[in-house]
Amino acid sequence: MMKILIVEDEEALAKGLKFNFEQEGYEVETAGDGHRALDLFDSADPPFDLVVMDLMLPGMSGYETTREIRLRDTCVSILVLSARTLSEDRAMAFDAGTDQYLSKPFALPELLSRIRNLKDRRQSRTTSTSATEAGVQEIPVRFEFGDGIVVDFDQFEITVAGTTHTLTTMEIQLLRYFIEHESRVRSRDQIMEDVWEDNSAFSTRSIDNFVMRLRRLIEPLPSAPRHILSVRGTGYRFVANPEPGDVDSESESS
Ligand code: CA
Repeated sequence: MMKILIVEDEEALAKGLKFNFEQEGYEVETAGDGHRALDLFDSADPPFDLVVMDLMLPGMSGYETTREIRLRDTCVSILVLSARTLSEDRAMAFDAGTDQYLSKPFALPELLSRIRNLKDRRQSRTTSTSATEAGVQEIPVRFEFGDGIVVDFDQFEITVAGTTHTLTTMEIQLLRYFIEHESRVRSRDQIMEDVWEDNSAFSTRSIDNFVMRLRRLIEPLPSAPRHILSVRGTGYRFVANPEPGDVDSESESS
């Protein structure tokens, strides 16, 4: 059974959500602040599948609480439900480790359908992993490529030339996607659709920005990338182990 933690200081809203989620057959607990949320999170057995997070909370903010939860559990889905609508707020929430962002006031059916999608995704992930999707590589938790670059998907870390960097959720999701589709061309639209379920906060331009950040980390010469190659007018292609002398000739212009 899907288990949901609602972190919301507005009691009426918390109660309303709880009621509606229970109607869907989910098991629900509520917390009015971040500390309480972390207590519940830490003692949950079985663990929560989803956290619905408010950002403006008394004491510890929703951002901070999200970050704390993400440190404890890299798999749990976190959906921010917030009255804050600025793109900086969204960006901050995603940086803290949020998977989805829904602005208040929200439509209940939309929220419920997003949760159903999350549930389906989790189920298909646990029962049949990615092998069902043709051509998708199953990759280990620690993946090594190129010149000794090591990605640790559990720790959200990448080690390049002996230095370890922490990646954001978005960065690691994108990198994972590239690795899973090694050497295949993916269009920006495909990437948006496949990598981010909630892509309303993004434009295809955001993908370029994430790619730029990844390139700065993994490419010895970001202006002449060898791993994340641009494909003119389309998107990107990831190459784990390029041949010596293989460089992306198209990136200089972009
Ligand atoms: Ca609030």
